[in-house]
Amino acid sequence: MRVLKKIVFTLTAMLLLLIVLPALTVWSCRRGLPPAGEKTERITTKVWNHRTQELMALPLGEYLAGVVAAEMPAQFHQEALRAQAIVARTYALARLRSGGGPGCDRHPDADVCTDSTHCQAWISQEQAYSQWPFFRQRVYWNKIWRAVTETGGQVITHQGRLIDAVFHSTCGGSTENSEDVWTNAVPYLRAVACPYCSHSPRLTETVRLKREDVAARLEVEPAVLRLQVLRSTPSGRIIDVDVGGKVMRGLEFRTSLGLRSSKVSWLEENGTFSFTTMGYGHAVGMCQYGADGMARLGHSAEEIIEHYFTGVSVQRVRWEE
Ligand SMILES: [Zn+2]
Ligand SMILES: [Zn+2]
Repeated sequence: MRVLKKIVFTLTAMLLLLIVLPALTVWSCRRGLPPAGEKTERITTKVWNHRTQELMALPLGEYLAGVVAAEMPAQFHQEALRAQAIVARTYALARLRSGGGPGCDRHPDADVCTDSTHCQAWISQEQAYSQWPFFRQRVYWNKIWRAVTETGGQVITHQGRLIDAVFHSTCGGSTENSEDVWTNAVPYLRAVACPYCSHSPRLTETVRLKREDVAARLEVEPAVLRLQVLRSTPSGRIIDVDVGGKVMRGLEFRTSLGLRSSKVSWLEENGTFSFTTMGYGHAVGMCQYGADGMARLGHSAEEIIEHYFTGVSVQRVRWEE
């Protein structure tokens, strides 16, 4: 009888250890964010959440952590995460309505929205945890939180004004001048060499599309479809392309065909086009995989930012609340 009691006791203790303790740890890990260290990070940011369709009022620090978690892999080097935090803060403060910024023009009460194609992507701590392996969750969140708090108040300026801090995943060798991708020539958005993003898993991709499909997507008749590059950047990204009597910008061409980049070459065989792209994203401003590559070579967040944004400086702002 005593032996049986002992067995029952041991089993119960093991069950407690196996089930209850991990549950308690998860519970305690998931409770709220660590307190923000900087005054700047307590500015309230009004964020339109596309997923829940509601307006959230978040302390800036909490918003920035969610942006870094959504916009950059948490495995990246700490200095790359810091650069992303500074970029995200600059972007958010430039749009802050309470600071005289324009806000998100699609949502009248919001400073920013969580649509990555419009403002900056954002995910909650809980969503971030759900995409990470269990044993990395705490480590990753702490990395991100440190990147935000340790750069607290730091922003990127050009001639004393906050810059339009744009970024992309992978440039594939060189970034581009803003006017070659969009329309305005912005003095700090210049093409720079980037030998740092060759480790990106998004470096190249080949997409095959039937001729009729290409014609439909480009809105031209299949019979007149003929792709001819009119102008390209020194690094080989399309600026203008003739698609059969119709001239398109590289960006429009790329998005219409669903390609990752406008640095693209193609081959047509038996009525099928094979498009091979280099890089991922618009290639203006900071290359994220390049930032990680620079960080791995020992460069600081500030050096990364100064490489990708020409003639800027990283400053610490004091924000009046
Ligand atoms: Zn928006
Ligand atoms: Zn790059």
